[in-house]
Amino acid sequence: MSIRVEVAVANARYVAGFGDKGQLALPPARGFAILTCMDARLDPAKYAGLAEGDAHVIRNAGGRASDDAIRSLVISHKLLGTREWFVVHHTNCGMELFTDDVMADLLQGSLATATLENGKWQNAKR
Ligand SMILES: [Zn+2]
Repeated sequence: MSIRVEVAVANARYVAGFGDKGQLALPPARGFAILTCMDARLDPAKYAGLAEGDAHVIRNAGGRASDDAIRSLVISHKLLGTREWFVVHHTNCGMELFTDDVMADLLQGSLATATLENGKWQNAKR
């Protein structure tokens, strides 16, 4: 099964069990937001005990307070009433494995996915 089909099947199952959650209020019920890393090993709903409608979760690489993350947090507070924000980082973050200069060099060489070999990022050999 392709990833696209797997996601569609999972979404259909989720929608079927959504029940009356569509009636949840737009502002987060618990009045807070979390800014955290996009790392696939992290599940903010699980580590923060969240259910649908509880909190805003803003994610990016490294959980950085980027312009866009700050924009989301301002909207979260100003228009949707959050009163607390948490910035949650984690151990073994992939953002610790490269610098902006390394990323720039990799992108200049190739748009294909790079690999980490012996602690150093490398573009795929052609
Ligand atoms: Zn991370």
